[in-house]
Amino acid sequence: MATPIITIDGPAASGKGTLAKRLASTLGFYYLDSGAIYRLLALKILSEGLDPDNEDQCVKAARAFVPEFDPARMSIPDIRTERVSDATSRSSRFEGVRAALLEIQRGVAHNPPAPFKGAVLEGRDTGTVVCPDADLKIFLTATAEARAQRRTKELLSRGETVTYEAVLQNLKERDERDSTRAVAPLKPAQDAATVDTSGMDADAALGFVLDLVRKRLASAA
Ligand code: C5P
Repeated sequence: MATPIITIDGPAASGKGTLAKRLASTLGFYYLDSGAIYRLLALKILSEGLDPDNEDQCVKAARAFVPEFDPARMSIPDIRTERVSDATSRSSRFEGVRAALLEIQRGVAHNPPAPFKGAVLEGRDTGTVVCPDADLKIFLTATAEARAQRRTKELLSRGETVTYEAVLQNLKERDERDSTRAVAPLKPAQDAATVDTSGMDADAALGFVLDLVRKRLASAA
């Protein structure tokens, strides 16, 4: 039987990460944060003094990044700063960058490491481009204000000096760039279930999605 795959896409701070992690752990599936791969590349671009708006530099950096990619680095805090978030949405809009990082994501989704029996992917295009054949696709959304409140809280708790207004502005710019880019823009897959988490806490979102999973993946859940 093919590996069951669940994709969760949506704008920044829509709660994808928390939901995808908890869903994966409940189901015994591998959790892949595709944004973390793009963030690691952006960190490399910045730390090598390259320009995240320069296509040639970004594509060359992405090709060099693939063979040196270390999944253990996806959890380093350095990739979560506002500076890296901004550089990530710039460098990830180039076709050559996306092509280079696609195989890493597909490889893990279809062959998750043992003992995982399936995969949960989260990002912007995991249901539309990375795994269009996924068994269940979720598009998670929430108002920009609800998302900015969550993100501000998270950044402050990590010791970053930010204001709600600046975070809201950064989120809106990132959403605009992610949704209007020519390659793999942020949008729901045609067959995705859209879930608005504005009025839901993390437990309610998990319960709602687990219900969908049980209906769709009865044998794996
Ligand atoms: O999900 P996260 O906010 O960590 O993603 C950071 C940035 O990486 C996004 O704003 C987007 O530009 C890019 N990204 C992407 N495709 C994905 C995941 C993330 O372009 N599948």
